[in-house]
Amino acid sequence: SAAHKGQLSADETQAIIDMDRDHHLHPYQIFDVFPEEGALPIAKGVGSFIWDTEGNKYLDAVGGLWCNNIGLGRDEMADVIAEQVRELSYASPFVDMTNVPAAKLAKKLADLAPGHLNHVFFTCGGSTAVDSAYRTVQMYNNCRGKKDKKHFISRKDAYHGTTYAAMSLGGKAGDHPDFFDFKSDDIHHLSSPNYYRYGKGLSEQEFADKLVAEFEAKVEELGGADKVAAFIAEPIMGAGGVVLPPANYLKRIWEICKANDILYISDEVVTGFGRLGQWFASESVFGIVPDIITCAKGLSSGYLPIGAMIFSDAIFEGISQADQGYYYAHGYTYSGHPVSCAAALKNIEILENEKILEHVRDVGPYFMEQLNTLRDLDMVGDVRGSHLMVCVELVKNKETKENFPEELDIGKQVSNEADAMGLIVRPIVNLNVMSPPLVLTKEEADFIVSTLRKAIIDAGEKMKEQGHW
Ligand code: PMP
Repeated sequence: SAAHKGQLSADETQAIIDMDRDHHLHPYQIFDVFPEEGALPIAKGVGSFIWDTEGNKYLDAVGGLWCNNIGLGRDEMADVIAEQVRELSYASPFVDMTNVPAAKLAKKLADLAPGHLNHVFFTCGGSTAVDSAYRTVQMYNNCRGKKDKKHFISRKDAYHGTTYAAMSLGGKAGDHPDFFDFKSDDIHHLSSPNYYRYGKGLSEQEFADKLVAEFEAKVEELGGADKVAAFIAEPIMGAGGVVLPPANYLKRIWEICKANDILYISDEVVTGFGRLGQWFASESVFGIVPDIITCAKGLSSGYLPIGAMIFSDAIFEGISQADQGYYYAHGYTYSGHPVSCAAALKNIEILENEKILEHVRDVGPYFMEQLNTLRDLDMVGDVRGSHLMVCVELVKNKETKENFPEELDIGKQVSNEADAMGLIVRPIVNLNVMSPPLVLTKEEADFIVSTLRKAIIDAGEKMKEQGHW
């Protein structure tokens, strides 16, 4: 590929890797391997492609971190961001001041969200949106005199972010290390809905029945619905392994919630803004009208940090009609940031004008179909997902679903092979996760699948050579 502005020599690249290693602590940095490997410095991005500092080109099938929906490096986005900076780079959102992009974006999100979700609180990203939901629900129940209604029900393998409340709501075992001691007493985790891993011997329907029964039993155990504030779930679990819920399970839980005054929080940080071919998956895909939707990522396609909690009329009325003197004791300096809101508005306009959701409904099923051809490989235990949110699960033994030992880091080995062929996929232990930009073409989808096939085969050969397989 042609040299790009910002391209560096091998020595200059090494200098960047060194300063990064010595001074930049990365989110989720793995301490034992990082000193040796360092980080891959990325210098340029256009559409679905990124280039490292030395000019090597990659198709980024992870879409940044599930967030690059409209593609990287768009001029319209650069223009709108620059214009907004010149016009108004910041204004306080607190108490009684606002700005034009924030007001317009709040209205737009209320229009796009299902049903009676007409109120928006802006945050800095997904974790802070989940945190805001947690606090707003507590506040709502306190305001209406239900102070004992404080338990939250989540699931193992859920991922809801990394602030204290968001990580406590999360259910990824590795994210609860002893030295952090996350998890408050009012947060509870039900079984993971991963049918491939935990559905043994059950039909999908029986598996769903079991999960729903477990939810009902948990509500009882906690003292009944008067003690339970909310259920929180991603429509499709993302970081927990692209886990599709068994048919109707989420809807059945929502119906129980609705009948028992338990709020339903749908965490659409990944699924929102087109990843499943819909603005939001809750209602359009799963038939649920939640009380709160949390979103971020695709809201601005990652151009600038922003998240939102979109919530119901009932919750707004509850918190706003409390006793005199009560106020919403929550908010960030960057809530409703004018430049982030302007970027999000433009991003939504691009998704609309270019009919990108319709495109996802076409390219998504095609991508899934092609990915399924990888099932003939001995190492591929499962291929799952929907539209542009997918993963491949690697196993040592397809019949027994036995995993490779965790220390072999098979997902990483495959992703390293893919990197060398110009494809970025995200390893999560024994998975390769993908959430490509929504503008992905069918040719690019073919490239991902054929390259991943080679990467899995090559990693497998190496495992055999090393006597691990
Ligand atoms: N919820 C879900 C479902 C997510 O996938 C993520 C991020 N991957 C978050 C919340 C947290 O978002 P952020 O990293 O923007 O704080």
